[in-house]
Amino acid sequence: DETKAPIVVLGTGLAGYGLVREFRKHDQDTPVIMITADDGRSYSKPMLSTGYTKDTTADDLAQADAGTMGKQLKASVWTMTHVTAIDTENQTIKLGDAETQIHYGKLVLALGADTITPPIKGDALEYVYSVNDLLDYDDYRTAIKKNDVKKVCIIGAGLIGCEFTNDLINGGFSVEAVDPMGYCLPTLLPEPAGRAVQRALEEKGAKFHFGPLVTEVNKAAGDVGLTVTLNNGDTIDCDLVVSAVGVRPRTQLASDAGINVNRGVTTNRLLETSAKNVYAMGDCVEVDGHVLVYVAPLMAQARALGKTLAGEATEVSYPAMPVTIKTPACPVTVNPPPRDMEGDWDIQEDGNNVVATFRDKSGQLQGFALTGDGIKQKMALQKELPPLLG
Ligand code: FAD
Repeated sequence: DETKAPIVVLGTGLAGYGLVREFRKHDQDTPVIMITADDGRSYSKPMLSTGYTKDTTADDLAQADAGTMGKQLKASVWTMTHVTAIDTENQTIKLGDAETQIHYGKLVLALGADTITPPIKGDALEYVYSVNDLLDYDDYRTAIKKNDVKKVCIIGAGLIGCEFTNDLINGGFSVEAVDPMGYCLPTLLPEPAGRAVQRALEEKGAKFHFGPLVTEVNKAAGDVGLTVTLNNGDTIDCDLVVSAVGVRPRTQLASDAGINVNRGVTTNRLLETSAKNVYAMGDCVEVDGHVLVYVAPLMAQARALGKTLAGEATEVSYPAMPVTIKTPACPVTVNPPPRDMEGDWDIQEDGNNVVATFRDKSGQLQGFALTGDGIKQKMALQKELPPLLG
């Protein structure tokens, strides 16, 4: 009976667990198997970059273990299990090196995104951390404690880099950050807004190196601390390095299976991939051309796909979804204009308070960037924005 073949969900991040939670509102009976390469604990990933501000360990952030989640969701949760291949013809997946094959009625890829590893040389790369899940976070905090870290160098001054800069400053560390672009949050904000964030973080003690790339991380002479080398000849002394240069949707498993991928695993608005009975969502997906590695879009996907999998085909729709960046030194809310949209920024600046609005040729608001007290404009401006996928 094909209708009772299990729904298999790959990934137990906010996307995977969020989906099954929604699905169970509509269907209590269909078996669900969830498979994750990590320990399956449920946690809110955005909290990974506020850990020193809020003094939270990995255990504090874990809301429930895999067993508890399985009970809550009436699902079988398989942890520390790597899916290595998908056979879309026979509707099976392969686990690890084993010969084990799992049959699926429907398969959902909620595989997340990998952190991009910058090409850095040196003899101290084991002190370069990227924090992309709860296990990474535990390693990073353990290393900070064990090495009595006082000073951190952050590679990248984008969303994650700036959040970690602010968080570590709040935790009493000194921080230097490096970014090849010219100011904070360069891919999200127009320059005056990025400069406001930079100034606010500098006022708290952060030091930025804009323009150069990090080329090497080595043990310092005498083996106490690290030396980070930049391609402009500058060096930074520190005790630990955090790499935060961005993420890339995990598409390899899908592309190896012959499923269409572009920047992410490509789907239509039903979140159907090019393979029959295979869906994708969360950080790994590209829906109708949109790759959005944030929580609000994956919640919208979970609501729609939860219904679709229960038999009521439902397209995902996206309202405008501004992103809040957790830099309390200078709060930021941004809704970047759509890629390649033609139009002009209007920028009102008062110290670190910036209200920047982007309008297309017809005068329609298409994006905004707000910093400091400027964030008070968020509600009003959000109402004016057209939906991203109406
Ligand atoms: P993930 O949580 O990465 O889950 C992927 C799952 O897939 C994991 O269970 C993994 O084990 C599993 N997996 C991968 N490959 C395999 C395999 N081959 N076999 C089996 N399992 C596999 N967004 C916001 O909207 N607001 C914020 O303030 C914000 N702050 C953030 C701060 C940080 C530090 C970070 C890193 C991200 C932040 N984000 C924020 C982004 C947001 O957290 C992500 O968009 C979201 O958590 C992605 O969830 P996901 O379930 O798609 O991916």
